[in-house]
Order: sequence, then C-alpha cells, then structure tokens
Amino acid sequence: MTELSAKPAFSLSSTAQSGAANYPGLDHWRDLPISQQPSWQDRDVFEASVKELSVLPPLVFAGEVDVLRERLAAAAQGKAFLLQGGDCAETFEAATADKISARVKTILQMAVVLTYGAAMPVIKMGRMAGQFAKPRSSNDETRDGVTLPAYRGDIVNGYDFTPESRGHDAARMLRAYHTSASTLNLIRAFTQGGFADLRSVHQWNKGFTENPAHARYESLARDIDRAIKFMDSCGADFEALKRVEFFASHEALLLDYERALTRIDSRTGFPYDTSAHFLWIGERTRELDHAHVDFLSRVRNPIGVKLGPSTTGDDALRLIDKLDPDREPGRLTFITRMGAGNIREKLPAVVEKVTASGAQVLWVTDPMHGNTVTSPNGYKTRNFDDVIDEVRGFFEVHHGLGTVPGGLHVEMTGDDVAECLGGADPIDQDAFLDRYESVCDPRLNHMQSLEMAFLVAGALAK
Ligand code: PEP
Ligand code: MN
Repeated sequence: MTELSAKPAFSLSSTAQSGAANYPGLDHWRDLPISQQPSWQDRDVFEASVKELSVLPPLVFAGEVDVLRERLAAAAQGKAFLLQGGDCAETFEAATADKISARVKTILQMAVVLTYGAAMPVIKMGRMAGQFAKPRSSNDETRDGVTLPAYRGDIVNGYDFTPESRGHDAARMLRAYHTSASTLNLIRAFTQGGFADLRSVHQWNKGFTENPAHARYESLARDIDRAIKFMDSCGADFEALKRVEFFASHEALLLDYERALTRIDSRTGFPYDTSAHFLWIGERTRELDHAHVDFLSRVRNPIGVKLGPSTTGDDALRLIDKLDPDREPGRLTFITRMGAGNIREKLPAVVEKVTASGAQVLWVTDPMHGNTVTSPNGYKTRNFDDVIDEVRGFFEVHHGLGTVPGGLHVEMTGDDVAECLGGADPIDQDAFLDRYESVCDPRLNHMQSLEMAFLVAGALAK
C-alpha cells in the first residue's frame, strides 16, 4: 500500500456525497433573511465540518419518519396522543447513560399513565438526541461588567463564561452529531431491548404513588394495576409490550447543520432532514418569508411550529399554506405556547380560523414557554400551577370548539432537580441554590413530570 493519496477504492453514492447537493429549492433559504444564527469564527473549520456532516450516516431512517407522520395523523384525528418531552437544551456533558435512561424512563412512565387516561395510543417523542441549538433574546450576556457572546447551545458555543468558550466554533456541529448518535443508540437499545416492558414501567409508577404527597393519584395507579392484571389474565402478549416506538425531535434552528444532514431518500426520491424524525420551528423564527419556514417547507419530515400569544388566525393560515400546501395528514403540528393567562382568550380565534379553512393540523400544548418568570432570588423558573393551568385551558378551548387537543410538549428531566416551583411534593426557591442544573429554561423534575401525567390523564379520562 503505497498510494495513500490515491482516489478512494469506491466512490460514494450521489446521495451520500451530496447531502442532497442539487435538489431544487433546498438551498433557497440561503437567499432569505435569517435570524438566530451564529457568526462562526473560522471559515475553514466551518467548511470542513459541513463537508464531513454531509457524508456521515443519517441519524434516522426516512421510513421511520414516514411512520411518525402516520402516527401524528392519527393524533390529529383524536385517535392517538403525542407526548413530547426533554431538556430545553441538551448538553454534551449531560449525555450520560444515567441521565438519558432517567429521561427515557420518565417519558415512558408518563406515557403509560396517559395511555390509560386517554384510552388511546401515546406517541412517545423526546426533545432528545439533537436539541443543542438555542435561540436567545440577546446576542450578548454581561456579568460583573464583562460582556461576552450569549450561550447559543452546545452546538455553537460553551456555557462557561470565558471568551474561549463563548466563541462560535463550527467543529461543535460534529460533536453534536456524534452525541446525538450515541444518545439515539442508547434510546433505541432501551426501547427495543426490554427496558420499556410495560410491567416494569408500571412498577416504577407505583414508587411515585407510594410517596404520601401523591396519595391522591393512588386510585388511578390502582386502576392501571387492575387493567394490567386483567390483560395478563387474558393472555396478552407481554413480549410484544416490551418494545415501544420512540421518536427524536429538536428545534431546527441551526440551518447549516440541518441542511448538511438532509438526504434524498432512495425509496421516495424526496429530501428528508435525517437529524431527527420531527423538527419544529421556534416562536422567534417562524416569519413566513424567512429562512427557517422556507427550508422546512422543503423536507418531508413532519414538522411543528410554535405559536405564541401574538399569533393571529391569518398567521396560522399562511403557515399552513406554506408548510402543508397539500393538507397532508400528520404533516403539520401547531404547538401553542400562549401562557396560562392568555390561552383561553387567544387560542379560540386561531383554532376557529384553521378549522374553518378545512385544514387538519395536530394541536399540541407547550405549557412551559408562555409561563416563564424570575423567582425572587433571581432564577428563571415556572410555577407548576401555571403550567397545569395552561394545559387545562388548552383542553377547555378544544373541548369547547369540538376540536382535538392532541398532545403535550414539555421541558422535563428524569433527575431530581429543582428548577420549577411547586408540585405536590413542593419545590421552593431555596432548593434552586443546590439543585438548579438547566443551562437554559427550567424543567419539570421527575416527580413533577409524573404528577403532570397523572393530572392530564385525569383530564383525558373525562
Ligand atoms: C424552546 O422550545 O426551548 C423554545 C425556545 O421555545 P419557543 O420557540 O416556543 O420560545
Ligand atoms: Mn426552552
């Protein structure tokens, strides 16, 4: 072997080589206004990183993405319910087996309770394996008179408040890819390898209701217990119940990364963003003629759009026309995040307009982002009661209009952190001093997440 610089022994397929190089329109976003993007410090590093990302294997398979679209279509019709949860911002450091398993476990626990309450399948989806890019309200952060670039998520820069760490380093996109790959690998192992067995998940939930603070949820847990025993006596196939489908999702914010992971599917000939099954557009980047909406309009993945309290019915209709022109079931999810104080007043007009247009989107509530406050001791937090109140408002509005409240999107963790106030086993602000870990928004901890599932299950069962 002398020819180390010779041509490779095989050439890459055009799909793999290009990351969908010349597919019409896929690069149109580059000509449009775009917000919330980094200013990479080194052009060579940027080009090398994008080149490498474009030839790395896809993280998800287009066939799985198509299955998810069908599942979401069922949810839009009221035949399934979406549970989407995870960190506000994943970090490279926290991508450990313990933390990933705790989060998956909590989502599975919530899903069992919701499945029982809703008496329908629950689609399980993590804000996981790729939730590394964050929009920020300011480009800079000042501490003790020192101003540095704001933290934009581990895919762009580091959280440490030093000039080195806060520089925008494109090589981080590769680390985000590899961290997503190992996270997804573990999720797939957990959800296919026996960890997700319905009976163990139910046992974990018993631990939750044994805490005296959660006594009021005992009867629901007992009903689930009885249902499982009944299934057992009927000879249900518990082998089959050892495996669950689990989908990955994140905000498609960093378009250099999303574009580099977009591939043409050999079965269908269409582009898929293979960084995740489901991608959403954030509240700050949903301008109709801007880059994010344009790029996501061109990939086949099911997509979501966050809708804040300023959204009008016409905004929603224009988004539908652009993102779901064929009115394809399962294609478009609206994730409303209006705030507990706004939802009952603002949501009806938007839903009514969409319904009258004949479009069938999936409506999901994000009861977190409209309810962020600062605690008296200076932490970004949310009150558990406000979060629950927005969920209740969401159900009330949809029940009032005869439309379908189809899912729940939450920032949560499986760990015993203290970031949101309240809950039956209450967190107070003093606990933030020791147990506040989030690098971005406050998450429901393990117990608060389960409590939310029991409360929502109660509402669904009505
Ligand atoms: C988020 O989901 O973390 C987020 C930033 O949400 P939004 O775009 O709704 O503000
Ligand atoms: Mn957030």
